[in-house]
Amino acid sequence: MHSKIDLFSLTSNQLEGYLQMRDASPRHANTIMDWIYRRGHHDYQGLTTLSPQLRNELTNSVSITSLPVYASERDNDGVVKWQFTVQGGVIETVFIPSRGRGTLCISSQVGCALNCAFCATATLGWRHNLSAAEIIGQVWTARQLLKEAGNPTPITNVVFMGMGEPLLNFGAVATAIRILIHPFAFAIPRRRVTVSTAGVVPGIHLLRPPLDVSLMLSLHSARDAVRNTLVPLNKKYPIATLLDACQRYLKENSTRWITIAYTLIEGINDSIEEARQLLTLLNTTTFKINLIPLNTFSGSPFRTPSTLRIDRFRTELCRAGYRVTVRTPRGNSIDAACGQLIGTNTQRNKHIIACT
Ligand code: SF4
Repeated sequence: MHSKIDLFSLTSNQLEGYLQMRDASPRHANTIMDWIYRRGHHDYQGLTTLSPQLRNELTNSVSITSLPVYASERDNDGVVKWQFTVQGGVIETVFIPSRGRGTLCISSQVGCALNCAFCATATLGWRHNLSAAEIIGQVWTARQLLKEAGNPTPITNVVFMGMGEPLLNFGAVATAIRILIHPFAFAIPRRRVTVSTAGVVPGIHLLRPPLDVSLMLSLHSARDAVRNTLVPLNKKYPIATLLDACQRYLKENSTRWITIAYTLIEGINDSIEEARQLLTLLNTTTFKINLIPLNTFSGSPFRTPSTLRIDRFRTELCRAGYRVTVRTPRGNSIDAACGQLIGTNTQRNKHIIACT
């Protein structure tokens, strides 16, 4: 008996190829994607525009895999976190509603190899690269669950900011992006799909059209000496190399800016001097800056800066003409803020809460 292909791992071109191999019209690819992704059906039998033979063929050979829910929690602020069982462990996916916008934060790996000093996911180490089907499965399943719960806010944005470094699982992430942006699949505009990276330079170079989605660079310091301690990957791809890759990305793609994620950690990277170093480094307003006050709890070696220090840092950047946002913590009471994702209820309380 042959194993089934997972629809969620097929780009539209691959689905067309599958149909052609079965002497069916490749035009049916759009019909199938519309039925499964946009209309949210679980099977092909109601798809009466296809012949009964093709429907049976699809049923027998192309699976649609919703991810099993291991656990879920909802915060008072509307944030929902699911733990899904995948090959190699449990991943976390977070939905963040905000004024008509629904952002889904998805995982790309079980655990992560990059060992950032302030990140809960890092404590797991790397365990498994998710398949494209497991990445798309998060979006498809989350949408179904939100619909069943009567949630009024649709998923309008998808960010690869959950567990794992997306650019170290490039093939699967690239396939998933193609499905997310396809007009007959999820039809999410490219600028509303964000890949967040700790600075995997070869991966940044691979993000070419149509994969030129929004890019977020987790910088956290303008100084190599500090960044080496927070993001060990910096020793391999230091800041200058990273910014060269960003400038090339801006030059060669349709994206107009890159977002710099900067987690503010008291006494480590939150001084006015550090803000000025950041201004000197960036030296161009093609970067937006997203300041993320560190979330922490008892036992953490890092502390969140005071509101005053955060505001001084922000003001220094704003004066230079940068677009600066300070991220409001969401989903804290269920450990769903970025950098808090660890995949199990018992383990996560032992670890530092942080942001990527
Ligand atoms: S911050 Fe991101 S890249 Fe760094 S260890 Fe955590 S998940 Fe990996």
